[in-house]
Formats: sequence, structure tokens, C-alpha cells
Amino acid sequence: MKVLVTGGSGFIAAHVIDSLLQGGHNVVFTARTASKADHILQNHQNIPKDRLSYVIVEDIAKENAFDEAVKSDPPFDAVLHTASPFHFNVTDPKKDLLDPAIVGTTGILKSIKSYAPSVKRVVVTSSFAAIVNPKQSPEVYDESCWNPVTMEEALKTDPSTAYRGSKTFAEKAAWDFVEKEKPNFDLCTANPPLVIGPVVHQFDSLTSLNTSNENVRDMIQGKFKDGLPPTRVALWVDVRDIALAHVRAMERPDAGGKRFFVTAGFFTNSEVADIIKKNFPDLVSKLPDNYDAQSKEFPYKIDNSRSNEVLGLQYRSLEESITDLVKSLKAAGA
Ligand code: NDP
Repeated sequence: MKVLVTGGSGFIAAHVIDSLLQGGHNVVFTARTASKADHILQNHQNIPKDRLSYVIVEDIAKENAFDEAVKSDPPFDAVLHTASPFHFNVTDPKKDLLDPAIVGTTGILKSIKSYAPSVKRVVVTSSFAAIVNPKQSPEVYDESCWNPVTMEEALKTDPSTAYRGSKTFAEKAAWDFVEKEKPNFDLCTANPPLVIGPVVHQFDSLTSLNTSNENVRDMIQGKFKDGLPPTRVALWVDVRDIALAHVRAMERPDAGGKRFFVTAGFFTNSEVADIIKKNFPDLVSKLPDNYDAQSKEFPYKIDNSRSNEVLGLQYRSLEESITDLVKSLKAAGA
């Protein structure tokens, strides 16, 4: 298939692109600048130009941002929309998080409907943020659950609520679009919790590392030498597994119209520290000498069976994910 991937410079998108290329697909990705895009091409010098190329989309929050990007010859068969801000450095929640997420998502769907009738499947990278109910968890989280956050809360509470709102409203807008506009394509969403694993994308320095790997970076840099923090986000998935989930959601006919809660399960910071100590003797001094095993009794259960049954996912272990992440951070200078 010929596939458009948005946000090609991102942590997850880098693995999505690799997974697509491994699966024999041809990829055009979007990036904000030519230098970011060229860096991705340099990392794939063995891939012919007709299999991997880019188009610049400077700001997904602008109206009609994707009108030119979705036009292609030969035309696209599918679009994977990963671009969306994921950080908590927020001065204006609307401008920094909500607009790019919501306008970016509805914008690309409108552009596809108007200019890319060949597209049959769109996969949007949503999040567990659009599933979780921070005030009252259900007994079991699955794809039927929605975050009840309101726009007022997203605008006025804190950056985390604004981020969770951005993902919730963007995903809702995508489903509404498909229902009302009845375009040529159908929709799937991938809803991962914390995504961790090896970094293969470009970042200027370890201080500007993508948000979801910051905790492990902090751990191996000695930030928690005096004590491990409590485990704030308790669900995780490896970046290579969520990348494969996007590709399979795109390829498999019966994935159409479905959300996918893509998670390997629960983890704790003490498990992460144990894995680092076991596999990296040179980093032992960066971690506390003693700490208690943190409890894995969380107030809810999870059901990720749809991701196994429809996408055929088998999840990597936390040990594999953390080990490969730490190796990649050390290679980047940590
Ligand atoms: P990154 O920050 O690494 O990637 C985000 C991507 O979106 C980058 O390519 C970024 O471009 C692009 N982007 C952000 N804002 C804009 C904008 N206004 N205009 C154009 N491009 C923009 O994050 P991840 O790879 O972690 O996240 C990718 C997706 O996965 C997001 O949709 C995120 O919400 C979702 N997700 C991530 C999780 C995680 O734990 N990592 C968990 C659940 C969902 P640039 O590089 O130029 O800034």
C-alpha cells in the first residue's frame, strides 16, 4: 500500500515508518521542516526514493494544512495520523495542545475526503488518555470506555488534563466526522497508554527527549538516587508493538471502525529499576541502594483482548523494552 504518515519526526512515528517499510509498504511522511525530514531519509539510505519520501506540513493546527500533503501520484491507499503535541510545557492549553490535536485530526480527515478519494483506511493515534476516567475508574478498562473530561476542565485544570482532553476531543471528532460525512474511508484508532522503548528518532539533546521516555532517562541520570517516585502512569506498551498495531490496523479489513486499546499491562517504577540494575551494572550507582517493591494492585483491570484477536498482537516484555530503551539512551549520550 502507499501510506501517508503524519508527524514523521516523532518517537512513535519513527517506528511506524520502519514497521511499514518492513511490511513492504511505500511511505510518504509529513514533517515540519526539511531538516527534520532529511534526517529521517538519511537514516534510511538503503530505501529507494520511490518507497520513502516526505512532504512539509508546518502546522497541523492551521486550516487546510493537509490539502496538498494528501495529493499524491500514485495516490494514497491509507493514512496514519500520529502528529499531535505530547508535552506538558503549556502556556495556552488551547493553542499548545487542544487546537493542534482537534483541528489537526478533523483537518486531515477533511483533506482526505476532498482530495484523496483513493484512501480506504485512516488510523488515528489516539491514547489511553481518551479512555481513562481519572475521577472514577471502572472495574475494567476496554475500548467501550471514554474519558468524561469536559472542555472547561481541559482549558482550566492543569497541563495533564489539557493533554487528556486534547486526545479525547480529537478522537471523538474523528468518529463524529466519519459518522456524519460518510467518506470513502473507514477509521480505526490506536489507544496506547505510556509508550516506551528504543529511541530511533532525532532529538537535539537528552533534555528534549520525547515525554514518555523521560522517566527512564531521569532514572539512569541519577535523579531518583534518593528514592524512587510512586508509579504515576501504571500501564505501558513497547513502541515497536504500538507501531505494529498501527500497521495491522491499517492492513486488516476487520479492524475497520474499531478502537484498539493497545497495552502490555501494568508496570511499576521499582520493576524498571530492577531491570536497569540487572542489565546495566554501570548504572547501579545512579539508582537508590534500597527500595521496596511497589505494589501492582491497581484499582482497575484491563481488557486488551481485541488487540490480540483482531490485530494478532503479542506484547514484548518490560525487560526487553527497558533494556533496549536504556541501550539507545546510552548511545545518545546518557
Ligand atoms: P512526539 O512528541 O515524539 O511526536 C509528536 C509528533 O507530532 C512530532 O512529529 C511533532 O513534530 C508533531 N507535531 C506536534 N505538534 C505539531 C504541530 N502543531 N504541527 C505539526 N506537527 C506537530 O510524541 P510521540 O511520538 O510520543 O506521540 C505521537 C502520538 O502518539 C501523539 O498523537 C500522542 O498523543 C500519541 N500518544 C503517545 C503516547 C506516548 O506515551 N508516547 C501515549 C499515547 C498516545 P515535531 O517533531 O516537529 O515537534
